Amino acid sequence: MTHIAGFDRSQLLLLPEVIDDYVDPENPVRFIDVFVDGLDLAAAGFARVTPEKTGRPGYAPGDLLKLYIYGYLNRVRSSRRLEAECHRNIEVIWLLRTLKPDFKTIADFRADNRKAFRAVFRRFVVLCRELNLFGRELLGVDGTRIKAVNNKDRNFTKNSLEKFIKAVDERLDEYLKRLDEDDATEAGTSGSRTKNLAEKIEALRTKRGRYNAMLADLERSGEEQISLTDPDSRAMAAYTKVGVGYNIQIAVDAKNKMIVEQAVSNQVVDMGLLTQTAEAARDILEVEKIDVVADKGYFKIEDIEACEKAGMTPYVPRPQRGPAVREGFFRKDEFRYDAERDAYICPAGQVLATRYESKLRNLKKFDYSNRAACLVCAMRSRCTKEYRKVSRLENEAVLDRMAERLKRRPEILDTRREIVEHPFGSIKQWMNQGAFLMRGLDKVRAEFSLTALVYNMRRAINILSVGELMRAVRA
Ligand code: SF4
Repeated sequence: MTHIAGFDRSQLLLLPEVIDDYVDPENPVRFIDVFVDGLDLAAAGFARVTPEKTGRPGYAPGDLLKLYIYGYLNRVRSSRRLEAECHRNIEVIWLLRTLKPDFKTIADFRADNRKAFRAVFRRFVVLCRELNLFGRELLGVDGTRIKAVNNKDRNFTKNSLEKFIKAVDERLDEYLKRLDEDDATEAGTSGSRTKNLAEKIEALRTKRGRYNAMLADLERSGEEQISLTDPDSRAMAAYTKVGVGYNIQIAVDAKNKMIVEQAVSNQVVDMGLLTQTAEAARDILEVEKIDVVADKGYFKIEDIEACEKAGMTPYVPRPQRGPAVREGFFRKDEFRYDAERDAYICPAGQVLATRYESKLRNLKKFDYSNRAACLVCAMRSRCTKEYRKVSRLENEAVLDRMAERLKRRPEILDTRREIVEHPFGSIKQWMNQGAFLMRGLDKVRAEFSLTALVYNMRRAINILSVGELMRAVRA
């Protein structure tokens, strides 16, 4: 018995005569071809759709777009690797009809058309909507951080710069002191030690000058951070382990866990991004009303109110934060607001009706209390150190309504996790796209548009088939 043997390499084979025979009818590359051919690339914003009348002919943007979609679908994102695939990969040879653009042409295409990729992503979303791949009832909104081309050591905040300057000043003081001592003792020596110290002092002064200039830049611009390699990137919250990166927001339809809307920003936190992400998704889904679920990182009264006003029904759990939670006292949700009396009822059944008005951001804020009741309360040790104040914003009824909805539908929070973990898990693990290759907000937006497009494309192909998708595009 022998193993299965291949052909002798020098043996003459009767290969099929057309490249098309090498590409299976259900190969996704066939859908990429049909999909891109069906796009209005000029309307999407691609440059050089109409060839120049004079000069050396360039590659058609459609061909380069096909190459990128193929590459992202197959975890090949760098322009040099895409160039290599044009020479050795039969699917790419088929897709590009043996064209072999060099890496610079490939890279320039992505950089020059950075704003057009979003339109391609949205066109595919519309196709999925037409194919009923979206349930259009529930959206999960979530954010993740994707690493930028910027090392943590090349990112500075005002605090870190002040610390570095302080450390440099201390080191300078030490060197200057040693220099004085050496001046007194080095008479008759070569002076090499003094020269060394002088060089170190000079280097430290240069460093200090750089830190000072960055600090002045931050103060002038009003920014919180400065990144040297990719100036648009920002240090994200430490627990994400991403370091310096970008904040990716997605709105995912619950039916097939497909991305309806995506946006990349350098905002460090998710708070305040709910309505803009969900509203864009609602618009493209062409529905009047839709439920939106997000995690507690999105809990911001103005945003939740805007979401309701836009016709959406938000579900965002209230985060347990604030001094009472830190001290282990009764949480705010253990107090009940009585709208008729305009007062809170505390866990001891007392009415907190005394109202003190102040401001929070642009909102009116009221503190409710009942000092006399607290001072004689048997439960005071579990509630407050002196007397308890419960704050309420002028429009907090919106949060009460949302709390009621969440009480009736608590399982929606588990559904949220299932909806949004699928795309982020797939993108970072399966698609291996946990770091951007390009620098600058516009360019990483182009990258993520491609990432989200191919995530959706993979889902659609798995749910339907290449043949069905091709028929839909041609219809
Ligand atoms: S300390 Fe005041 S607010 Fe707290 S339970 Fe007692 S009476 Fe109510």
